[in-house]
Amino acid sequence: MLPSDHGRGGVRGAGALLTVDLDAIAANYRQLSARLGPSPECGAVVKADAYGLGLDPVARALWAAGCRSFFVALAEEGLRLRELLPDAAIHVFNGVETDTAAETAAAGLVPVLNHLGQLEAWAGEAQVRAATLPAMLHVDTGMARLGLSAAEVEALAGAPEQVAGLALDAVMSHLACADDRDNPLNVEQLARFKAVLKILAPLRARRASLANSSGIFLGAAFNFVLARTGAALYGINPETSHANPMTQTIKLQGKILQTRIIDTPSTVGYGATHRAERGQRIATLGVGYADGFLRSLSNSASAFIGGVRVPVVGRVSMDLITVDVTAVPAEATHPGALVDLIGTEHTADDLAREGGTIGYEILTALGRRFERRYQGGGAS
Ligand SMILES: *Cc1c(COP(=O)(O)O)cnc(C)c1O
Repeated sequence: MLPSDHGRGGVRGAGALLTVDLDAIAANYRQLSARLGPSPECGAVVKADAYGLGLDPVARALWAAGCRSFFVALAEEGLRLRELLPDAAIHVFNGVETDTAAETAAAGLVPVLNHLGQLEAWAGEAQVRAATLPAMLHVDTGMARLGLSAAEVEALAGAPEQVAGLALDAVMSHLACADDRDNPLNVEQLARFKAVLKILAPLRARRASLANSSGIFLGAAFNFVLARTGAALYGINPETSHANPMTQTIKLQGKILQTRIIDTPSTVGYGATHRAERGQRIATLGVGYADGFLRSLSNSASAFIGGVRVPVVGRVSMDLITVDVTAVPAEATHPGALVDLIGTEHTADDLAREGGTIGYEILTALGRRFERRYQGGGAS
C-alpha cells in the first residue's frame, strides 16, 4: 500500500484510519461504463464531498479513469470541482438562482433547472451575457421533490421561447425505487419520462438522462444517453436484494485507546445498556457519533479483529465506542491496535443494516477527524 499525499493527511491523535482505494473507484467506474455499453455516457456524481470520500482525490481518479461528466448538488461544490477539473462537464443538481447565476455561468457550470423560476433566472443570465448558456431540464416523474410537474411541462412545451438563449444539454428525471428491480414504479416512471420527452421535443434537448447507479441495472431501456452514477462507484450495492457486483473502496479502522479486563461485573457506557461479566475484556475505540458512527449502532454493530467478530457493546458516545474483545487474544487488543469497522468483509451496507440506515448515510457521515489515506489513483 502506498499512502499518497492528496486529500487530508494525518490528524494528530486521530481515533481511526480511513483508507480510500482510488483504484477500486476507477474499477467501479469502468464496470458501470461497460454495463452501459459503448454509446451512453457514464457520468459520476460527486456531491457531498464525493459521498464523504473526498472530492479532490476521487474526482481526479475518475477523470483519469475516463469520466468527463460530473454532477454535484451545490453551485459551491461545482466551483470547487471546476478548479480541479478545468475541462470537465459539471452539472449542478440543485440548479441556479439569481444570486448564483453569474458565478455559475463564469465557471462554465451546467445547472439542472428544476422549476420555472430557475429557468427564468438562467435565461436572464444568458440575456445579460448575450450568450447561449447550457442547462439540463429536470422533470418530475414520481418523486415530488425537484423538477417540473406535468402541468409545467405542458406549459413549457407551448411556450418554447422561455428557453431562448439556453442550449438544453439534456432532459432528466430521477427514479424513486431503482434499487428494487421488481418495483412497478420503475416502468411507470419510464413511461412518464418517455411521454415527457415527446411533449418537450420542440425544445430540442440534445439528450436524455434517467438512470442513477441502480437504474443501470434495470436494463437498457433505462439508460438513455447519460447515466448519473454515485453510490455504486463507491462500492454501495445498487440492487438491494442481489449480490453486490461492485468492488469495495474503503476501509475504516478504529484505534484502541484502552482495554480493560472486567474484574467486577459492570455496566458499560451511558444508560448502562450492556452488562459485562467478570473476565470479559472491553476495548474502547476513539470513534463516536461525532465521527459518523451513528448512535443507532449502539449494541448492534459488528467490528472485527483479524477476522474475528468483536461486537460493539453499550451505547455509542460522541467520541468513543466500546467493543467486547474477549474472543481475541490480549496481544491483539493493546492501545493503538486497529479494529476493522468497515471493509471488504463488513461493508458500509452491512454496517448500515446494523444501524437501521443505508450505506449512503454511512459514507456521507464519515468523520472529518479520521486520518485519511488514499491509495492508487494512477496519476500520483
Ligand atoms: C444523488 C443523485 C444521483 C446519484 O444516485 P446514486 O444512487 O448514488 O447513483 C443521480 N441523480 C440525482 C438527481 C441525484 O440526486
